[in-house]
Amino acid sequence: MITEQGLIAGRDPNGFRPLAMARLGGAVCFGSESCAFDLLAASFERELEPGEVVVAREGELRSHRVARAAAPRRCVFEHVYFARPDSVVFGDSVAQVRGRLGAQLAREAPAAADVVVPVPDSGLYAALGYSRESGLPFELGMTRNHYVGRTFIEPKQSIRNFGVKVKLNPVPSIIRGRRVVLIDDSIVRGTTSRKIVRMVREAGAAEVHLRISSPPTAWPCFYGIDTPRRSELIAATHTLAEIRAFVEADSVAYLSLEGLLGCVSGERASYCTACWSGAYPVSIAGEDRRQAELFPVGEEEIRP
Ligand code: SF4
Repeated sequence: MITEQGLIAGRDPNGFRPLAMARLGGAVCFGSESCAFDLLAASFERELEPGEVVVAREGELRSHRVARAAAPRRCVFEHVYFARPDSVVFGDSVAQVRGRLGAQLAREAPAAADVVVPVPDSGLYAALGYSRESGLPFELGMTRNHYVGRTFIEPKQSIRNFGVKVKLNPVPSIIRGRRVVLIDDSIVRGTTSRKIVRMVREAGAAEVHLRISSPPTAWPCFYGIDTPRRSELIAATHTLAEIRAFVEADSVAYLSLEGLLGCVSGERASYCTACWSGAYPVSIAGEDRRQAELFPVGEEEIRP
């Protein structure tokens, strides 16, 4: 918050979301991601502690603990998808974590294929890791239009559909006649993945093997991310075989939760994994609980 009295920055008591502090001459800067400081040429100082509030006023900095220390539950999805690769989040380089996720995915879910292709941009570093570990060549078989936003968080299906078309385009000269391992960070509803798999096939791929650098997303987030309700998440309502059939890939495999947690440096229990495990570290109530139920009373299953 910026007030007439000063600048106030606070982090939630469990530290779900990152918040860091940097210095620029005599000024102090706050940002969720350290890459913001690079743009300003500010020097990163530290992450705020969970439950800490820092007040910057008239050249002075004061730190306050406004919430009782809760067990840290850092959102590990930041490393999978949300954060930028040029950031350091929860003490780990996002790019390095994503590379490790890809390498672990290659160990857990190898594919008989000719080329590793990322779904840009969030699948890029995981695909590099997969390629290094598997020995399969990495190629940019899809291009991304940088003038459109993230389809995951667009509010309406019609906007998401349009978004995918405008956003991604395959490179047929790289894909044609080859068995492609397509690397993406997650499958939410499945509709975007199906469009991408179709695109790659239409560009001439002989086979498409979809590999996901996180476990099946089967639970909504109530800690700051606008995810769909549970009945819209394909992994909550479909088996792996059904997901494969829905997205029309030759094979689909996800990274295990154990494998994911082995790629970050903190204590395993210090991360939130609720969107994969359903283990919500802070209890949810009312409308949130209703959304977390698979088929709330009076509501029909919504097929992706
Ligand atoms: S539920 Fe998922 S997205 Fe939300 S804070 Fe936990 S790990 Fe992150």
